[in-house]
Amino acid sequence: MWTPKYRRAVLVGPIAKRCEQVLRQVANKYRAEIMALEIMPDHVHVLVEVDPQLGIHRLVKHLKGVSSHTLRQEFRTWSGFIRKLSYKAESAGRWLVKVNARGTSQQCPCGRAVPKKLWDRKHHCSACGFKTIRDHASALEILRRGLRLRTETPALAGVALEAPSFSYGE
Ligand SMILES: [Zn+2]
Repeated sequence: MWTPKYRRAVLVGPIAKRCEQVLRQVANKYRAEIMALEIMPDHVHVLVEVDPQLGIHRLVKHLKGVSSHTLRQEFRTWSGFIRKLSYKAESAGRWLVKVNARGTSQQCPCGRAVPKKLWDRKHHCSACGFKTIRDHASALEILRRGLRLRTETPALAGVALEAPSFSYGE
């Protein structure tokens, strides 16, 4: 048995699956047989039969070393992050919709362009009169694009997506 650093519950979903795969590969490589394997969110139980020539300590060292190295490599990347997010969303009965955030700070959720300089922190749309801070307007625009993508994507069209309610105090 061992635990990830800080005993954080990171071994879930695709990470747990990948962890198991890697452990089995390592065991195979050293001709060790995994009799039982249980991956819990914050620790791993493994029962192995190992060649005495190799020794259990060396095998465990390899199992730990390779798995933590591999998982860290694979899941710290952007795609790893997206995989995790998508899994989280799915397990909550939601969809992950990826939105191109380009230009979202330059547009009002009403559809009009509201150009801003980097130092303009406020959003004021002369077309619809909407006033808020820059980041809030961007977030609303990202949401609007996501909802539009949803209606344009047949697989997502039937999925209920609650429009969150907003309150904002300056
Ligand atoms: Zn507007």
